[in-house]
Amino acid sequence: MNIPQLVQSQKDFFASQQTKDISFRKNALKRLQKEVIRRENDIIKALHNDFKKSEYEAVMTETSIVLAELKMTLKNIHSWSKPKRVLPSMLNFPSSAKIYSEPYGTTLIIAPWNYPYQLALAPLIGAIAAGNTVILKPSELTPNTSKITKEIVEAVFDKNHVSVVEGGVSTSQELLAQRWDYIFFTGSVPVGKIVAKAAAEHLTPVTLELGGKSPCIVDETANIKLAAKRLVWGKFINGGQTCIAPDYLLIHKSVKEKFVSCFKDEIFRAYGENPKESEDYPRIVNTKNFDRLALMLANENCVIGGETDRNQNYIAPTLIDEPNLESEVMKGEIFGPIFPLISYETEQDFDSVIDKYDKPLALYVFTNKNSFAKKMIAKYSFGGGTINDTTVHFANHRLPFGGVGESGIGGYHGKQTFDTFSHKKGVVTRGNWLDVPTRYAPYTGKLKQLKMLMKWS
Ligand code: NAD
Repeated sequence: MNIPQLVQSQKDFFASQQTKDISFRKNALKRLQKEVIRRENDIIKALHNDFKKSEYEAVMTETSIVLAELKMTLKNIHSWSKPKRVLPSMLNFPSSAKIYSEPYGTTLIIAPWNYPYQLALAPLIGAIAAGNTVILKPSELTPNTSKITKEIVEAVFDKNHVSVVEGGVSTSQELLAQRWDYIFFTGSVPVGKIVAKAAAEHLTPVTLELGGKSPCIVDETANIKLAAKRLVWGKFINGGQTCIAPDYLLIHKSVKEKFVSCFKDEIFRAYGENPKESEDYPRIVNTKNFDRLALMLANENCVIGGETDRNQNYIAPTLIDEPNLESEVMKGEIFGPIFPLISYETEQDFDSVIDKYDKPLALYVFTNKNSFAKKMIAKYSFGGGTINDTTVHFANHRLPFGGVGESGIGGYHGKQTFDTFSHKKGVVTRGNWLDVPTRYAPYTGKLKQLKMLMKWS
């Protein structure tokens, strides 16, 4: 079946109303849960084969997240799907008002390679829970994970309900040329713009989960040892290939020296003398990305790390001291294990750095001054963030996850994934036992009454 035929058969399946039944959705998710538990070790192996991701990181950042989303969705699907009663407006008296969650229809999910399993499965779970049919396109850069994902989906779903289409850019383009009811895209800003343009053709609603240059500020009051430890974890997990990784560091001059020393100790503690030999340190996903990152190291002062091995796509955990703001490493999102450090003396010094880039996906502040943290949260627009740690806001499914400006449109996680994939239909039911005459012509003498009603509504 080619892509247009597959999309049409999903549209026909959606039209058959089967996905409107909550038990149908729940059973589908239960089957998925069983299969992802059964295939967990295969996924872990695939992630290792794709970019040497350790078993621990695979469980922490991929399989456990998918299982948690499934468990929560199965527990709540009935209450999330129920029509929600809201207060009626006095203008409509007598009436009741409800919000109905309605599936969009046939949806497209395009996933990236950096967390190739959970960034494909987490939106998929919400899309199914909300009653849509789904075509999922995993990234071609992590072929082992893509293959297992396809096998899982084929073992669980009728292809007219959920299908995986593997392929690269041309497949993605062919998919985008179809008419969808919703598109959920996770990936880079430039491709996000391509997706938005394709969606605009049919006025298809989109979620765009993109990237950006996420700053981290460490002020003079911060607990430096703890900040270094948490930054080593958040920056180098997944080999720095994390959309919400702190991209660059803005640090108060008075604590810079101490920070560099602590950061070095923490890298040693996490990955040993030679991180290349550490079982816990992943590789860059491919040579193209390795070359892109290696270019950033040229002519920079690497005070920690800087070693590379192209044969293994290995780049050591690296700290660059005071890069020029026009240099390669400060041009765009780094998306690798390279951390540029820029010191500041006054807030104005770092203002100009942060303002140089579009609104980031994340912002991190390490400080012991509550007022400073609050000021930074209020001052800058960013997708989400953490005070005194990095990336952990991702782990709370009660928080919306998504970007703003160039870092994305919309959000998901937990109930919000269900809401993202649902159109919210507002419906008023009028009572027939009374028909207030105010709104009907002739209007003469009714204006005062109307104004009073408007005040109460
Ligand atoms: P990418 O944009 O290159 O690719 C993402 C997907 O789009 C892939 O499935 C790919 O096949 C497809 N694609 C690539 N080029 C295309 C084109 N020209 N036309 C149509 N489709 C195309 O992104 P990536 O390299 O896989 O992922 C890295 C980027 O994703 C980073 O910028 C990162 O910050 C971002 N990201 C964001 C989040 C988030 O939740 N906000 C999560 C992970 C990654």
